[in-house]
Amino acid sequence: MLETILAQLAPTHTKLIAVSKTHPAERVMELYDRGQRIFGENRVQELTAKYEALPKDIEWHLIGHLQTNKVKYIAPFVACIQSVDSWKLLEEIDKQATKHSRVIDCLLQFHVAEEETKFGLDMAEAEELLQNPDFPSLKNVRITGVMGMATFTDDQTQVRREFQHLRSIFKELKARFFAEQASFKEISMGMSGDYLLAIAEGSTMVRVGTLLFGAR
Ligand SMILES: *Cc1c(COP(=O)(O)O)cnc(C)c1O
Repeated sequence: MLETILAQLAPTHTKLIAVSKTHPAERVMELYDRGQRIFGENRVQELTAKYEALPKDIEWHLIGHLQTNKVKYIAPFVACIQSVDSWKLLEEIDKQATKHSRVIDCLLQFHVAEEETKFGLDMAEAEELLQNPDFPSLKNVRITGVMGMATFTDDQTQVRREFQHLRSIFKELKARFFAEQASFKEISMGMSGDYLLAIAEGSTMVRVGTLLFGAR
C-alpha cells in the first residue's frame, strides 16, 4: 500500500504523513525500512515513547489536540505541530522551543467539518491570533500552513466543499499575513478515506493511518 500511495502523491509532490497512532514501534519500523521517514501521532505520551524507541532521523508530526502543559515533553524533538488552535498554545510552543534552541514548525488547525466535535480555529480566531501584538516576537515557532479534517461522511460533495474551504482559508492567510514567507505553503488535509479527493483539491500533506497500518 505504501508504494501505491506514494505513486499517487508523486505527481503533485504531496507529502505522506504515516499516522502510526495505536500501532507498536515495530510496525513503524517496517515502514521505516521501506523508506518512510515522516510519521504522525496524536498523543504526547505515545509520541514520546516512539521517539525514544525509534531511529532519530524520523520526522515526527503531532496531529492531535495538544494541551499547553504537555508541550514540554515533545519540544526537544517534534518536527511539526499540526494542531495549533490557540494563542496560548502557540506562545507555550515558542517558550519550550526557545529552551531547546529550536524552531518548531506549526500548522494552524481549522474547523472546516460540520461535525461539532472537531477541534480547530475559525477565520476570526485565526486573525486574532495572527494580529496579537506579541506575535512578531515569537522567534522559535514558524507557521508553515494550515491543517483540517473533513466530516466523516460518504458524501463526496461535502468533503470536497470542506477541502475547498480549507484551501481558501490558506490562500487568504497567505495573501494577508504570509505573502513574504515562502515557508508558509502547507495545506494538510486528507486521511485514509478521502486523501485522493484532498490531493485533487490542493493538499500538500496527507495524513494516512488505516490504509497503511490496518484498522485500529
Ligand atoms: C487518526 C488521524 C488520521 C489518520 O486517519 P486514518 O483514517 O486512519 O487514515 C489523520 N489525521 C488525524 C488528525 C488523525 O487523528
